[in-house]
Amino acid sequence: MAARFGGSAPTQWGTALPGIVTHLAQPVAESGAARVALTFDACGGPSGSDLDHELLDGLRREQIPATLFLNARWIDTHAALAGELAGDPLFVLANHGTSHRPLSVNGRSAYEIPGTRSAAEAVAEVWENHVVLTELTGTAPRYFRAGTAHYDDVAVQIVHALGEIPIGFSVNGDGGASFGAGTVRAEIGGAPPGGIVLAHMNQPHGGTHPGAIDAARDLRVHGVEFVHLDV
Ligand SMILES: [Zn+2]
Repeated sequence: MAARFGGSAPTQWGTALPGIVTHLAQPVAESGAARVALTFDACGGPSGSDLDHELLDGLRREQIPATLFLNARWIDTHAALAGELAGDPLFVLANHGTSHRPLSVNGRSAYEIPGTRSAAEAVAEVWENHVVLTELTGTAPRYFRAGTAHYDDVAVQIVHALGEIPIGFSVNGDGGASFGAGTVRAEIGGAPPGGIVLAHMNQPHGGTHPGAIDAARDLRVHGVEFVHLDV
């Protein structure tokens, strides 16, 4: 796989390139209800290995389905919980990379996080955690989101070639867990039909948990149906 893409030079970089899915294929249910997918990233590493317990409790209490993008390092830190999440039908687990690096074939960085430096490193970034998640859940993960959600166009092709779908976002729900609760509520509350909402489950001290749960309640009042990613 690395040899197949080793000679390709990227020409594009970003979070919404062709081949990155940012919206649900079916924005409206048969019933006419708007469909929205909430996704929460668990990035792992020195500043990303915590858990937002209140967010998790809120999703369960309100029975809000969500897709959880887990990094291999976060799974390492929370092995028992990861197993529990894998067995909870409220959640679908997805791939948030092995080392949480922007997915690049030439080391391009995002937010000062250096990207993978070659096709081989990009393959490993996807595949090592693919294997971890397959062992954890018994099923190969279908969805991948790079650390920082940045990709180059060759890396996007690599994800597809490995049998996963590169996922972006249509709503930046918590600004990398930097928004206060009111802003999170407003941003997620504005999700359009077919929206894929990006927020975090690993930063308990930000505004994500009260904001996201309040926004989900607001959206449900307006008839929105929350769904797992299906693209
Ligand atoms: Zn992340």
